[in-house]
Amino acid sequence: MSSPLVVMKFGGSSVANADRIRRVARRIARERASGSQLVVVVSAMGDTTDELLALAAAITDDPDPRELDVLLATGEHQSATLVSMALHSIGAPAISLTGPQAGITTDGTYGKARIAGIDPRRVHAELAQGKVVIVAGFQGRSVKPLEHLDGDAPGASDVHAAEITTLGRGGSDTTAVALAAQLKADRCQIFTDVKGIYTADPRLVPDARQLPVIGYEEMMELAHQGAQVMNVRAVELGWVNDVVIEVLSSFEDAPGTEIREDPFVEQRNKVRGLAHDRNVAKVTLVAVPDQPGVARRVFDPLAASGITIDMIVQNVGHGGATDLSFTIPRVELAKAKRILEPLVRELGARELTTDSSVAKVSIVGAGIQNAPGYAARMFGTLADAGINIEMISTSEIRITTIIAEDRVEDAVRALHAQFALEVPEAAEAAAG
Ligand code: ADP
Ligand code: ASP
Ligand code: MG
Repeated sequence: MSSPLVVMKFGGSSVANADRIRRVARRIARERASGSQLVVVVSAMGDTTDELLALAAAITDDPDPRELDVLLATGEHQSATLVSMALHSIGAPAISLTGPQAGITTDGTYGKARIAGIDPRRVHAELAQGKVVIVAGFQGRSVKPLEHLDGDAPGASDVHAAEITTLGRGGSDTTAVALAAQLKADRCQIFTDVKGIYTADPRLVPDARQLPVIGYEEMMELAHQGAQVMNVRAVELGWVNDVVIEVLSSFEDAPGTEIREDPFVEQRNKVRGLAHDRNVAKVTLVAVPDQPGVARRVFDPLAASGITIDMIVQNVGHGGATDLSFTIPRVELAKAKRILEPLVRELGARELTTDSSVAKVSIVGAGIQNAPGYAARMFGTLADAGINIEMISTSEIRITTIIAEDRVEDAVRALHAQFALEVPEAAEAAAG
């Protein structure tokens, strides 16, 4: 029988300094000694990605997306090479590869590229040599033909421009799951700074309880609503390719959480977890003319520049005008303002107002759709805590509110208690 293939991914905090890198190397060497073939994906050290973004922002408030991706990719190059060196120093054969060297190709969307394919030949060849393959996470290579300056049709002799792309924040998770799917790995392990997936961010809610298992759908929704412990796209890839994703601590040996198809989902009827997200800004176009085509003129240019619109509320019009509010990622507010300010004048709206002191708080659970009363309980809990709800949106498995950022902690704790998330299911069943 051939040895099992394991993909292990270590996040930024797990490789934050030389000591931790040596510790990660020892963990990898231990796994290798047990007979596994290993592909290891790493994130940039600690806050490196934030620091690189800050450096770019100190140079210009509108960095060229291509240059920014080349810059950001270097964070993961550093950690991959250092983990490889740490393995060499304890006698384990290893080689680091950049995303492009590992055969990862993407579309051409800088900053949020999607993986288009993986050519696994290089990785297989290195594994066949008995090496641990360390892959720099969060990046790939997009290929497009160079412009046809002479105007003739594309042909085999065309020069192709390979470009480095990055996969969006938290994208090393995606690299790991995509590699696990492509290589048909026996296990896909995401090592991080908490023991697994909890009912709420354990940094915010001391009572948060670790879940032994969570379904793909619920995990995707939690991630989408701000639980940054897993990247949304990574969970989606796991779901589509049936990769069981284990989330576990890189600091202690303890059982983690499995993200997998949840066999009990139909029988469950409760809130599974809470998520909050501070990377939110609210934008309002005050008194825009209430006419056909206005929403398109607002949202088309935002979409064209890659800004993700989340919640949208349009008030009932009065006197031919209406207020249009929506939320976007806070990090994209400056870009959105550059687009919207001239538009407000063109449309004849009264003004553009923005608020970056709001946040999103969501309850998530596959049973929510079938059971009335969750929304009322959620809103009642926030009201009792004196927290004003500015916007609401719902999906089949989620209810989301926008509230003031400085009340997030109170909101999440109150909701955690309201839905008894600290109580394990078995205990709850025994009690009731
Ligand atoms: P890494 O650097 O390993 O990728 P991240 O910082 O991206 O780690 O994600 C881990 C963090 O996610 C934890 O420290 C925790 O504060 C946060 N987090 C948010 N929601 C949850 C949750 N529901 N369960 C576990 N961790 C969560
Ligand atoms: N270093 C990147 C980030 O900070 C990717 C990752 O950590 O997954 O978002
Ligand atoms: Mg992460």
